[in-house]
Amino acid sequence: MTIPPSPHRPDAVERTAAAAAAPTERFAVRTQGMVASEIRALFAVASRPEVVSLAGGMPNLAALPLDTLSAEIGDLVAREGQVALQYGSAQGVPALREQICDVMREEGIEADPNDVVVTVGSQMALDLVTRLFCDPGDVVLAEGPSYVGALGSFAAYQARVVHVAMDSEGLVPELLEEALRTLAGRGITPKFLYTIPNFHNPAGVTLAVSRRRRILELCAEYGVGVVEDNPYGLLGFSGTTYPALRSMDRSVIYLGSFSKTFASGLRVGWALVPPAVRDRLVLAAESATLCPPSFTQMIVSRYLEKHDWRAQVKTFTEQYRERRDAMLAALETHLPDGCTWTVPDGGFYVWVTLPEGVDAKAMLPRAVTARVAYASGTGFYADGLGSRQLRLSYCYPTPERITEGVRRLAAVIEAEMDV
Ligand code: PMP
Repeated sequence: MTIPPSPHRPDAVERTAAAAAAPTERFAVRTQGMVASEIRALFAVASRPEVVSLAGGMPNLAALPLDTLSAEIGDLVAREGQVALQYGSAQGVPALREQICDVMREEGIEADPNDVVVTVGSQMALDLVTRLFCDPGDVVLAEGPSYVGALGSFAAYQARVVHVAMDSEGLVPELLEEALRTLAGRGITPKFLYTIPNFHNPAGVTLAVSRRRRILELCAEYGVGVVEDNPYGLLGFSGTTYPALRSMDRSVIYLGSFSKTFASGLRVGWALVPPAVRDRLVLAAESATLCPPSFTQMIVSRYLEKHDWRAQVKTFTEQYRERRDAMLAALETHLPDGCTWTVPDGGFYVWVTLPEGVDAKAMLPRAVTARVAYASGTGFYADGLGSRQLRLSYCYPTPERITEGVRRLAAVIEAEMDV
């Protein structure tokens, strides 16, 4: 018998049968980074009807034209069922990849459909991109705070996350430069900067256009890739769409999604990558899923072709703006002195900083008892920061529920300050 040498641990001692008795003893080392996100753990309590949940980032799909969609889906099965219910291309349905290029044009991106890889939500794209670039111990730069699902992918591949702080105009270029310089001084070149430039999850801020070019220049200077995650870019409240980083630099890896602009349950997202990355990404996608579901891709494709999807995005955005307004007004009215918060111009989230001495994670059980839930800040950092912060989502509850939720939250914070 020939046993190939281990590519990772050439001198590894073979495990004995006794040491591997329990299945948990057989877990791969890298799974140690896989821990339940604080937010996921909260879903069960937060979904009780008496609790106003400002915790989850579920899109509000009430405005979708379900009757029309149902007829469309029936027609798809009747006319194209043999294709829609069959395996498809690992890279994604060609017609949809062309339409995705039209969607990206809204943000100034000129792309070739051959460079688009369709994924099962952009979460899968995040996982694949991390798999492609990160060996255990590699450093990834990310805004602080950052998207919890991305932090989960980085942890799953044992990458180390170095956070770079933001202000009200997003990632601060001077702090990015400082981080790059410090890391270079220690001989470390981060694999990539992971950034959410528009309507940040969880911070609610948007990267100033004037900073975008500088950030790209810095990453190029230090040989660091850029991964731009942009699921909220078309959900701006002032009618402004910001130029994507990818529109300024073709080496940027861009991740997009139909979860927020159409329907999250279809799980259709994509990555736009430079040609040099594409083939390897398709191989990684193939090993993960063989191919993304033909059925949901074809639903999205028909929807984009036959419906005024821009009008639907506008309808969603108007709802979210109304809810954002309700949340900001309630925060202004009810939160005690010493609290500060960001003012989002799109997307789903407000990031709140609590008064000195109040711990958001410790306060959460008391908030749930008071029938309001939020996502505490530490879940959005890989390094334990964020204890005085929390994320509030205004996307799902009605404006009335948002107002009531913030009123309850304010009472909990005040009680916490009195202790
Ligand atoms: N990136 C960010 C910043 C997100 O907020 C989300 C969803 N909350 C995702 C990626 C994943 O989206 P999906 O997999 O539904 O496309």
